[in-house]
Amino acid sequence: MEGEEGDSVLNGNCEDLEEVHVNCVENGRFCGKCCFDTEMPLTEEDLRRIEGLGYVKDEFSIRDGETRRLRNVNGRCYFLDDENRCVIYEHRPEGCRLYPAVFDGEKVVVDKICPKWREVKVCEGAKKRLLRLIERVYGFDVF
Ligand code: SF4
Repeated sequence: MEGEEGDSVLNGNCEDLEEVHVNCVENGRFCGKCCFDTEMPLTEEDLRRIEGLGYVKDEFSIRDGETRRLRNVNGRCYFLDDENRCVIYEHRPEGCRLYPAVFDGEKVVVDKICPKWREVKVCEGAKKRLLRLIERVYGFDVF
C-alpha cells in the first residue's frame, strides 16, 4: 500500500483510541476503496471473533505463509456488500479499524489510497496500536 506521513499524522493524547475515524461517504455513497483487493492480515483474535459470528475461516480468509489474510471475491473483500458496506463492521478486523493508518516498513503513515487521506488524523495511541498489531501478526519488533 502506498502511503506518506505528511502533516496528517499528528501527535495527540489518545492512548485508548481503538479506531481511526474517517467519513467514508463520497458523493452520497460508501467509498469502499480500502476493501477492494484487500491484503489485510488477521490476528488470532480477529479470526476467533469472526468465526464466532458463524463464518468459516477457510471461506473468509486465506493463508499466506504464517499469516492469514482476508479473502477477496471478484476483487472485493469477502465481507463487502454490493453497497460497499462491511457486513461485519462492528466486528471487523483490528487492521480495518486502524485504516488508513498503515505501516510502510519503517513507520506509521496514512495510506493515500484513501480519498480522505489528507483529512485523517492519526494520533500516538493509534500509531502504537498499529505497531503492536504488526508485531502480533508478523512476529517482529517494530519499536
Ligand atoms: S472486513 Fe470490512 S472493513 Fe475490513 S476490508 Fe473487509 S469489508 Fe472492509
